Amino acid sequence: MNILLLGPQGSGKGTQAKRISAEYGIPQIATGDMLRAAIASRTPLGLQVKPVLERGELVPDGLMIDLIRERLEEPDAADGFVLDGFPRTTPQADALDSMLREIGRELTVVFALQVSDEICIERLLKRAREERRPDDTPEAIRTRLELYHRETEPLIEHYRTQGVLVPVHADGSPNEVFAEIQAALEQVAVR
Ligand code: AMP
Repeated sequence: MNILLLGPQGSGKGTQAKRISAEYGIPQIATGDMLRAAIASRTPLGLQVKPVLERGELVPDGLMIDLIRERLEEPDAADGFVLDGFPRTTPQADALDSMLREIGRELTVVFALQVSDEICIERLLKRAREERRPDDTPEAIRTRLELYHRETEPLIEHYRTQGVLVPVHADGSPNEVFAEIQAALEQVAVR
């Protein structure tokens, strides 16, 4: 199963991606985690993207596309994956479409986690207190939500056109959201 999660920061993408990964035995590919790991180990990529993440802005498409291309070639992604945080822009989505076409694969389902900005902000501020992520400052949160609406939300239409979009109510508890995802995945499995 090749699964993609779309949703604003604070929609619970990471939490749900981890649960899908554990339940279905496919790797979670989270670009934000990959970038934070690069920053922590001070690789050239990490040094380049550190200020971008701190401001809550988007890393250039070319860098992200190269990163994902390499990651999808890893053997553990051969039987499926759950993508979390990529694509975030139309050029990234177009690049993913052609990458998958090249290797003869397609997205099984794209979940769009739907939640209001108010709930996202509340959850992100709570995470800022608990995890001290440098991009959970009020300014960076505002930038990230604005960028989500401007750059990433249009991808919902992109995937609706492809017939793979499944909207999910993401304002409930993690268990409630996961139950909705599982129910949808069972439908996909019997199709
Ligand atoms: P996340 O953990 O998914 O919220 O990502 C944290 C930060 O990493 C984002 O605010 C961006 O700065 C950067 N990032 C992650 N994924 C992407 C992407 N697909 N395109 C551009 N920037 C990204």
